Amino acid sequence: MHARQGATARVNAVAVIFTLVCSMGSASRAAAQAQPVPVTSAKPGWQWSFDSAQTVVNTVRAGRDLSPAKWPGGAKAAVLLSFDVDNETVALRYGEPTVGSLSEAQYGARVGLQRIVSLLDRYQLPATFFVPSVSLRLTPTMAAVIKKSGRHEFAVHGWIHELNTTLPDSVERRLLTQAIAELTQLTGTKPVGYRAPSWNFSPNTLSIVRDLGFRYESSLMSDDRPYELLQRGAPSGMVEIPVQWILDDAPLFDPRGQRYASPREIAQVWIDEFDKALEEHSMVVLTLHPHISGHRSRIVALELFLAHIRKLPKGTVWFGTHAQAADYVRAEAKLGEPVVRR
Ligand SMILES: [Zn+2]
Repeated sequence: MHARQGATARVNAVAVIFTLVCSMGSASRAAAQAQPVPVTSAKPGWQWSFDSAQTVVNTVRAGRDLSPAKWPGGAKAAVLLSFDVDNETVALRYGEPTVGSLSEAQYGARVGLQRIVSLLDRYQLPATFFVPSVSLRLTPTMAAVIKKSGRHEFAVHGWIHELNTTLPDSVERRLLTQAIAELTQLTGTKPVGYRAPSWNFSPNTLSIVRDLGFRYESSLMSDDRPYELLQRGAPSGMVEIPVQWILDDAPLFDPRGQRYASPREIAQVWIDEFDKALEEHSMVVLTLHPHISGHRSRIVALELFLAHIRKLPKGTVWFGTHAQAADYVRAEAKLGEPVVRR
């Protein structure tokens, strides 16, 4: 994930879906359900019918709550740590990046990742690393750093952190197919989880993710708890591990912007999120980045968050990878396997 680009991308995503619906009648809407959705420009919502609004909303929506009665080992809450290893790809995806911005991003590969992995080792914690495959090809040594403990998961985060909402179905599908192949080759394991770059779904993303055999998705924000995704109103069998900007390091750790917040304040936000999750026997999913949280003053936020949890009696909190959590809630909810789309 990356916040700065995410806002624009989200606006585009909305525009794409809305235009599709507003530009067609019910017969053509039905026909479009089986077809890739074209990327085009927007019409304002006040020109739609209610049916159009409902069709837009139902493209991908939250379905069944998949909260388990208890988390593994009888734990009262789950904490899932994820690290989006974007590094230079956030700059590269726009083309013609500056040397300065590339160097700022390389910090993640060169310094930040190791600092984060060392902290996870100190606490013996698992995490999921969502990696654009170009990022790993640029610094292939990262694979060994992440693999060393045997606790962590690799998952897909696009090919070059592409903006899905600007892409036709065929290109989005090709890049994601390529990303899976490259990540499998570079890590030795076929990934089962997907996180859209910038958490940015196109109208085609869920279809592609289902077709390519992913077992869970982690880009959407309809709940704090795990849930099943509905696609056009129908259960998909796809587990959503939801994310949130509140629990992402990128928006508030902008060192040049007026939005910069102290890492200690941010740690308190995450701690408050965790304390409520514990009351509700729910889940916290952190989304951090080696090129952002890997800095010396910022890793303090994650240290404070983990130290807060560590003070609780042993077994109160379960830490797992996203894949472990998705498989667990799938089994507990008797969800069955992901539904083949067609
Ligand atoms: Zn990202």
